[in-house]
Amino acid sequence: MKKVGVLALQGDFEAHRKAIERARACAVEVRTAEQMNACDGLVIPGGESTTMLKLLGIENLLDPLREFGLCRPIYGTCAGAILLACEVTNPAQSSLGLMDIGVERNAYGRQVDSHIAKIKVDDDGELEAVFIRAPIIRRVGSSARVLASHQGDPVWVEEGRHMVTTFHPELTEDPRIHRHFVEKL
Ligand code: GLN
Repeated sequence: MKKVGVLALQGDFEAHRKAIERARACAVEVRTAEQMNACDGLVIPGGESTTMLKLLGIENLLDPLREFGLCRPIYGTCAGAILLACEVTNPAQSSLGLMDIGVERNAYGRQVDSHIAKIKVDDDGELEAVFIRAPIIRRVGSSARVLASHQGDPVWVEEGRHMVTTFHPELTEDPRIHRHFVEKL
């Protein structure tokens, strides 16, 4: 069985663990480079990207994470998507730069900072998506592929081995997103 690490510095890693198990892979919590390098792929969960960046720096995990991403798949949810992007605005912030996408943080504004929506999945019907202080993907590079959109903006994107969602599939029962990631391993 493939082994998927869930970065467990901050955020909702427990829900991802369960979702990975529903997608029939083995899930382990990752807090060190050694634990990460024992995995076939990695999930960076939602949370607060600024805090996660700080913790990654403190734990000396930024370089190991970039190197991991050069040969193995990473799935970033929400704050994880912000970390994988190569451009971050509102405000600008450093990132891993592993995917050619540009994201704007907290882009839905205060009034609607959390909402649930039915989104269209390309070729695969609809999906219920939970958005929590989500970013909007403002730019998608030519080698990236949009797998689902909401209100005209991409919300599920893959590029090569990596993928991101701006919503939280670990909070619903629909296994399609995690299953898609597990198939990339
Ligand atoms: N608003 C958070 C950020 O900018 C992301 C929110 C989330 O991961 N649910 O990092």
